[in-house]
Amino acid sequence: MTAASLVDGFGRVHRDLRLSLTDRCNLRCAYCMPEDFAGWTPSGHLLSRAELVRAVGVAVGLGISHVRLTGGEPLLHPEVVDVVRDIAALAPAPRISLTTNGIRLPSLAQPLADAGLGRVNVSLDTLDRERFARITRRDRLDDVLSGIAAAQRAGLRPLKVNAVLMRGVNDDEAGSLLRHAIEHSWRLRFIEQMPLDAGGVWARATMVTADEILEQLSREFHLTPLPDRGSAPAEEFLVDGGPARVGIIASVSRPFCGDCDRLRITADGQVRNCLFARTESDLRTILRDATLGEDERDLQLAAVLEGSVLAKEAGHGINEPLFISPARPMSAIGG
Ligand code: SAM
Repeated sequence: MTAASLVDGFGRVHRDLRLSLTDRCNLRCAYCMPEDFAGWTPSGHLLSRAELVRAVGVAVGLGISHVRLTGGEPLLHPEVVDVVRDIAALAPAPRISLTTNGIRLPSLAQPLADAGLGRVNVSLDTLDRERFARITRRDRLDDVLSGIAAAQRAGLRPLKVNAVLMRGVNDDEAGSLLRHAIEHSWRLRFIEQMPLDAGGVWARATMVTADEILEQLSREFHLTPLPDRGSAPAEEFLVDGGPARVGIIASVSRPFCGDCDRLRITADGQVRNCLFARTESDLRTILRDATLGEDERDLQLAAVLEGSVLAKEAGHGINEPLFISPARPMSAIGG
């Protein structure tokens, strides 16, 4: 493993990079963005494939060992397979995973696996077609299910499925989602809804909490907490003695910042040391500065990445009285 220089003021060593490939998306999930969202990043600000890979190369040299591609919808990036291949060719090669809505996986799962992708997380909040269309504002449930099956055929395992439950919309589906996940060998994780949407629909009072989800699941399943979570965002439980598992990512009600090892680069080249950060550090200007030689460019990129990590706060502060959501919505940060 490369020497770790991405260490923050609390001793947390950063090994995990979330790289957003685009802020564009082919769904309009209600908890993520309004139907008529118009705050897209200007195309000219989006990093090119070479710029994305250059930034990742520097991060890998600083100790990043896992790169998760995200967005927006990362599979909308026209060169996503090449981006994966380029990142897989870095030395030392990081593990590569991808978070997607799955719609483009039927055609891309195998090329992505061949290029070096290890795993995918697919977001799916309901198994009911009408609910799916209501939540995402697009009638694409069948495409997502086909995408999951394609990922499994391509050997992208474990196949993780992420679900957000919303009060009065799909909050009765925890049990049926888990049953379906077990039957289809998906590893299911529930994500608490976070105050990161462009439309400002999140409300603490109505958020479906980890406690509620666990209570709902415990009516049908015997859950045994798994120890040794490490820096993973999900608390995991064995279901009915295993081997099936279920996870809960409870960023709001059970924050896990103390073990956070994640760093983010947005599609327009801004480093964020926390999903909820209100400040960012600019890589794009350095990547595009034609006066810099290659070595000097990499040194400057490394200094920005290290500085961002060093400035990381102890926690995201969601539960502090003065918490303010970041200006960027989740889709423009990279979830
Ligand atoms: N388009 C890809 C996808 O659908 O997975 C990647 C980007 S999406 C922003 C990443 C994850 O963030 C998805 O699992 C989505 O459900 C989740 N997400 C988006 N907004 C959220 C919010 N306000 N609270 C919790 N999770 C959210």
